[in-house]
Amino acid sequence: MLFIEKVMKEIWKPYADVYKDKLKEYSKYDEETLKDIIKKGIDNYKYPANTNQIVRMTSMISCGCPHWRGNHALGGCSFCDFFTQTFEVFILAEALKRKNVASYAEMVRYSFQVQRGEKVNPLPIEFITVFDTMNENEFGNIVFNELFSDPPLYNQEIRTLVCETRINSITEEAVLLWKSKARDDLVIESGIEVGNEWLRNHWLNKKITDVEMYQAWDIIHKAGCSVNSDILFGIPGITERQSIELFKYTYKKLTDSNSFVVSPLLCKGNDLQSNIIKHFSEDKEMIRIGVIKKELSGMPHILSLLTAFHELFTEDETLIKKLGLAQRHFSEYYSKIIYRFRKSEYYPLVDSIIQVLTNMCLTQNIDDLRDLYDKIIRTDFYHRYLEQLSLEYGMEQLNETLHIVAKKLSNVYSNEEGFKEFEKELSDFNFQY
Ligand code: SF4
Repeated sequence: MLFIEKVMKEIWKPYADVYKDKLKEYSKYDEETLKDIIKKGIDNYKYPANTNQIVRMTSMISCGCPHWRGNHALGGCSFCDFFTQTFEVFILAEALKRKNVASYAEMVRYSFQVQRGEKVNPLPIEFITVFDTMNENEFGNIVFNELFSDPPLYNQEIRTLVCETRINSITEEAVLLWKSKARDDLVIESGIEVGNEWLRNHWLNKKITDVEMYQAWDIIHKAGCSVNSDILFGIPGITERQSIELFKYTYKKLTDSNSFVVSPLLCKGNDLQSNIIKHFSEDKEMIRIGVIKKELSGMPHILSLLTAFHELFTEDETLIKKLGLAQRHFSEYYSKIIYRFRKSEYYPLVDSIIQVLTNMCLTQNIDDLRDLYDKIIRTDFYHRYLEQLSLEYGMEQLNETLHIVAKKLSNVYSNEEGFKEFEKELSDFNFQY
């Protein structure tokens, strides 16, 4: 087991113990009782409002991401915690699925109906998803058939259909099945996160190789469908300078992806970044190298986003055509940024960056980005940011950064042996960017 996998399992251990106990308890409930409890949860959940008239995302309830549920313990990707807020429902859904997968499928469909109603008029792009939509352990054919059974959920054909799944769940059969429900295009969204395979697996615990990624993309493209890749701005335990370079590298490397959905690293719940902040916020070495910052630690600086997009799109303007910003993640990120700067003299600048980033994504035009960047680099706000950056570790010290952070993590979550294993793993990391 890789070092990062052990760390993530340790972080999730308290939840894993609760999960096991509750699953045992819920397994004693009869099917109808489970369905009633799940239905109440679905009815009472506050679904995000939809303001977009082009795309509509409908996330349905499920038993949770199979990668997070693991075989014997919870864990999953190190930057991700989609789970603590609706933890209970995943356990109830898993208990129901084990009793009767048809009833589980009924609940998944019910969660669609509560949000959208029946005989829905589809928007031009309908995004219907769970976490790993093509994985039998979460969705599978029985749920698919239930979702698209009579009476139909939509009153006409869906033009562009989007669903999200892990790369290693993509098969030709599954792609063709989903494609049968899309008149114009099926877009398959998968988390690639970073272009470098070692970082993806040894630091993000993604468990997806480059070979698997290219094979899955090949299947999608041969079926005449489109690839949309989730990529991260910032990964746990690195500096702003490293985040900017890594992001640009990823965006440029994944040329075969038809489009991207960018998410800023968010620091929440049981993800690794939150735990780094929790344990090392006063750690002098982590502060010195720039992994911990006094302000807004845990999330990328908004000027890092501005800088990276500016550098990327002025170098090659056509790259903006692939850009998408993850709606939910960016709303959360902007709220935190706005809160942080609400009383600051720099607030108007922050606000204008948010406006420009949002519009740039919609218009696919970088004129406003260029103008704003030229204005910002003459401000104190930017000069102070540059000063901070000049003290941080850059890409040339990425190995050293990971070594320092892993050493400290091993003191909390692993042991000397575990760290030695990580050192062996790190000796294979030779990142040319
Ligand atoms: S990022 Fe995706 S694959 Fe990874 S744990 Fe989260 S939901 Fe699962």
